Amino acid sequence: MEAEHCYYCQGPIPSGQSFYEGRGVKVCLNCFRGAKACTHCGFPAKELKNHPKLGKVCDFCLAERPPQTQGQCHLCQREIKEGEREYAEHGVKVCLNCFNTAKSRCFTCRFPKTVSKLEGQGGVCEFCKPRLIGKGSDLAGLLGPLVPFLAAFGHPVTLPKQLVFLDWRIVLGMQKEDPPRFPVNFLDEYVHWAYPAYHLDQKIYVLPGLPAPWFVPVLCGQMAALELCQRHGLKHLGLGQARAVFPRAWVHYLTYSTALRLGHLEVAKKLRRWPEVYVGPEFEDLLRLESAKGPKGVIQLGLKRLADLTQGRW
Ligand SMILES: [Zn+2]
Ligand SMILES: [Zn+2]
Ligand SMILES: [Zn+2]
Ligand SMILES: [Zn+2]
Repeated sequence: MEAEHCYYCQGPIPSGQSFYEGRGVKVCLNCFRGAKACTHCGFPAKELKNHPKLGKVCDFCLAERPPQTQGQCHLCQREIKEGEREYAEHGVKVCLNCFNTAKSRCFTCRFPKTVSKLEGQGGVCEFCKPRLIGKGSDLAGLLGPLVPFLAAFGHPVTLPKQLVFLDWRIVLGMQKEDPPRFPVNFLDEYVHWAYPAYHLDQKIYVLPGLPAPWFVPVLCGQMAALELCQRHGLKHLGLGQARAVFPRAWVHYLTYSTALRLGHLEVAKKLRRWPEVYVGPEFEDLLRLESAKGPKGVIQLGLKRLADLTQGRW
C-alpha cells in the first residue's frame, strides 16, 4: 500500500515508529528530521521554494497556488509576479529591475524613462509631457475657475497678467554653489525647499513645465498673495516680514486646500508635510479651525486677521 511507504525515501514506515502524515502521504521519522516545515501548510519539505505571496513553501502549495501575474512591465514587457515590488503610476507598471537600472528619470514623477528634456530641469516622461504647463498652455482656462473660489475667501483677484517662467536653479541659487546647497534632482525634492511658483513685486515666477496638479493649487495661493500684497503695500510675503506671518499661513492654507478640493492628493500630502519652508504653526491652526468650524469658520477668521493687517493690529 502506497500510504505505508515514506513519500521521500520510499522505504516502509517501521512499525511502532512515529511518522508524519498529511497531504495524503506519510513521511518517515528519518526524512522528517531532515526536512523543513512549509511556512504555509507545515508539510515537511526537502526543499522550500519561494512564493511571492505565501513565503517559503512546499511543492504541494506551489502547485496548488502558482504565483499570479500582476501585469506586464511597461518597459521590458516582462511579467511582474504577484508580491514582486513594482512602480505603478500613470496606469502602467514597471518592474523593479527596470526601475533600478533606469538611465534617466522624469523630473516630475520619477518615471524611469524619459522621452524629452526640459530646459534647465531634466528629463520628462511620455505621460507627464503632455500635461506640463508652460508658456503655450491655456492659462486662462486653467486659472479662471480659481477667480470665484478666491473671491469666496475674500480675495478679489484677476488673472495674473504676467507669469515669468524661471529656471529653478536660479530660484535656489544653485548655479553659484558647487556642490549645491540643495541637492535637487526631482520636483518633489525641489518642493522641499521652495514653492514651484512665487509672487514677488507684482509678478508671479513659475517653474517651467510644472504638472497641472502642482501648478493650479500653487498659483491659487500666489494669486492670493499678489492680491494681499497689493492691498497692503507689501512687495512680497517673504520671511523678513513679521507682519506677513499670518498671511503666509493663509496662502499656504489656500494652496493646500485647493490641492485637496481638486483631488490632487499627492500634492496635498506634500504641502501638508513641508509647510516649514514657508509657514509656521499658524497653518496647523487654520486646519484645526477648519475641522472644528468648517471652511466658513476659516474664512471668517481669515478676513478678520487680514483686515487687522491694514489697521496695524496683528
Ligand atoms: Zn523516509
Ligand atoms: Zn505547503
Ligand atoms: Zn521591466
Ligand atoms: Zn513623469
